[in-house]
Order: sequence, then C-alpha cells, then structure tokens
Amino acid sequence: MNSNEIEIHKELKKYFGFSQFKGLQEQVITSILNKKNTFVIMPTGGGKSLCYQLPALIQDGTAIVVSPLIALMKNQVDAIRSLSSENGIAHVLNSSLTKTEIAQVKKDITSGMTKLLYVAPESLTKEEYVAFLQSVPISFVAIDEAHCISEWGHDFRPEYRNLKNIIKQLGKVPIIGLTATATPKVQEDILKNLDMSDANTFKASFNRPNLYYEVRTKTKNIESDIIRFIKQHKGKSGIIYCLSRKKVESIAEVLQVNGISAVPYHAGLDAKTRAKHQDMFLMEDVDVVVATIAFGMGIDKPDVRFVIHHDIPKSLESYYQETGRAGRDGGEGHCLAYYSYKDVEKLEKFMSGKPVAEQEIGFALLQEVVAYAETSMSRRKFLLHYFGEEFPDDGDGADMDDNVRNPKNKIEAKDQVVKL
Ligand code: ADP
Ligand code: MG
Repeated sequence: MNSNEIEIHKELKKYFGFSQFKGLQEQVITSILNKKNTFVIMPTGGGKSLCYQLPALIQDGTAIVVSPLIALMKNQVDAIRSLSSENGIAHVLNSSLTKTEIAQVKKDITSGMTKLLYVAPESLTKEEYVAFLQSVPISFVAIDEAHCISEWGHDFRPEYRNLKNIIKQLGKVPIIGLTATATPKVQEDILKNLDMSDANTFKASFNRPNLYYEVRTKTKNIESDIIRFIKQHKGKSGIIYCLSRKKVESIAEVLQVNGISAVPYHAGLDAKTRAKHQDMFLMEDVDVVVATIAFGMGIDKPDVRFVIHHDIPKSLESYYQETGRAGRDGGEGHCLAYYSYKDVEKLEKFMSGKPVAEQEIGFALLQEVVAYAETSMSRRKFLLHYFGEEFPDDGDGADMDDNVRNPKNKIEAKDQVVKL
C-alpha cells in the first residue's frame, strides 16, 4: 500500500469503523479524490453511499448530494451526524426548512463545517440556492439514483434532466453519478445527460449466485400452486407481488384461509395499516406479505427466502430489483415468476392509455420480460446479459435455475413419451 492507500484505510476505520472496503469502493474513492468525473454502477446494498461520503468527509469544501427521496436524505444525514460530534457536518436543504434553519445551514457551509449537503433536485433549481452555492467551495456533486435521469430507467424524474445545467453554474466541479440500474441503455443516457463521457466508470457484477430463478406457466390452479410452494417453505419469509390491489387482497385472503400467515400491502391501504403490516413482516409476526410494487423500497430484511411474482413484472430491471430482496444474507432465495401471455396483453392494454413515447418504451421493456420467461437458456445468463454482463457457463451460481437443472428439450421429449 502506498501512503495514500494507508490514509484512506485509516479514514475508513476512523469514520465508519470498517476495516475493509467493499468491492470497488477503494477505486471509486481514489477516482473522486483525483477530482475525476466518476460513474458508479453497483447493485443495491453494494455500498454506494460510502463511495461519496468518505471523500466528502476528508476533502476541503462541501459535497452536494442530489437524492430523489426526502426520507432517504434524512436517514443519511442522521447516519453521518452519528459519526461526528458536530451536527453541522451534514445538512439537508429543502423547501420544508424555516428561514432560521436555512440561515444555520448557510452559516455551517460557509464556516467549512458542512461536508455533505443533501438536496432534492427541485431545490437545486432555486436561484437563491444556486447563487449561494456559487459563493462557497464545493468539493464535488454526487448524483445518487442517477437512473432517474433516464426514461428507460424505472423511476424517471424530469427534474434530473436539468441537473447538468445547474452544476455548470457552480464552476468546474467533478460529478459523481451512482445507480443500481445496470442496463446499458440507462447508463448511456446518464453519461449523455450529465455530459461526462470522460468519466471513470466502475461497474460491479450484478450476479446474485444464491438466488434460484424459476418461471412457471400460469394456469387456473395458480392459487393452489402458490399455497403448495409456501407450505414447502413453512415458516420462511416471503413476498408475493401482484399487479393490482384487488389481486393483493384476494391472494392474501386465500392464503389466510389456508392457514398461512399473510398480510396485504398496497398504496390503497391507509398509512397506519401499511406501516403495521410492514412491521409485522419485518418482526416476523407474519411469514408472507402479498403486495403491489409499492412494497419494498428501502426494506432491508436479510432473510427473505422467496419472492413470487403472481403477475409478470413490467421490465427485467424491476424484476431484478424485486427479486433482489430475497437472500440478502447470502442464504437461500427462490425467485418464482408465473407467466401467461394473457398477462402480457393485459399490461399492453393498460399502457395503451399513455403517451406514445412512453408506450413504446413500455412495450420494448415488456418484450424483454417475455423473452426471459420463454427462454430455454440459463435464466441467470439471460438476466446478466440484459445488464451487459457475460456470465460464464461455470460462473458462480450457474446451476441455480430451472432451465439449467431441467433443460427444456429433455422435458418436452419426456412429455411426448408419456403422451404416446
Ligand atoms: P447502496 O446505496 O449501494 O444500495 P448502501 O450505501 O446503502 O448501499 O450500503 C449498504 C450497506 O453496506 C450499509 O449497511 C453499509 O453500512 C454497508 N457497507 C458499506 N461499505 C461497507 C464496508 N466497506 N464494509 C462493511 N459494510 C459496508
Ligand atoms: Mg443507495
């Protein structure tokens, strides 16, 4: 190790108490400390926050962190404050602050105390804030959840499109983009929109070797099939995703009637019930949560053992994110999706009310899901290929899917023998 490496290891220990960097963190941090534009693509849980937090803490000036969710910003600010004796080390700048609070934030930044300033993209457009930020030293601008910039991402935010223009007004500051979206199309969009084709790019592998991928044909017996599956995983935690609130309610009820402890979760339930059901799942008062995609953002339950998709997801990107909630602890994680072409048609019909450009993107994404469901190749290989990653035949977790364990042509041949 050279003196620089020793130094950042020391800082890692000092601030975060970790003795080792995770994955590509060290390379990313070195790139940031060298004032380079940097692009970080790591799966959820990969440790992206530390990539910008550590360099922000040890450099002069204030780092601006753009993040789409107020709740996430608040969590991070609290976490950073707990590492320090100074509250002013990190701040959030948003529209809910009073005049006095804003004055305090400005004072802490000006005095050099504030190392991290979290802002929502819409706050950053405020002229008053931009004028102030022009007058103080900025170490870099980190754009978390950078896929929000792309219409091909799962969470497009128009305000993200304006970021580059605002950052330009701050002078020559390095930009750090971070995302867990691995599709080449989204990555291209991010680099283009932030005008940083020169960025040092760091991409971690998205392979989750402990997850088992399976697709079953959806028949009218789906409910008894799910019940059988859950009974084979008795006492284990699992999530069942459904497309509609109505389906969520009816599946949760069917499971309850069949002696499975399950609760529903969707945006139609009041906040109190939602919070209660989420806590019951986290505290293991129930085994199964039946949910729409409203459930899962920021849920960090390490021992989710299965994720079932009652209806197909709208993109492989969402499928990867949703199944990624299984097996966080490295233990078993069974990802089962039910597939019928009728569902595809239903989703297409659903989308037909949307603006044409959005529809086209939606259809294209859906076609990839269909291809995944219908493929006879290794599902892991298929998924990772979608993310621009070549998975070798003997890679980690290579035999963890239905197609590899039971090659399709063999099943068909056997079926035919039985029929004759
Ligand atoms: P991401 O934003 O990539 O989803 P986070 O930044 O939220 O991931 O980090 C995920 C978890 O990894 C956090 O609990 C964090 O404390 C932990 N973590 C990050 N870096 C390290 C490290 N070097 N050693 C151990 N744990 C780490
Ligand atoms: Mg993150």
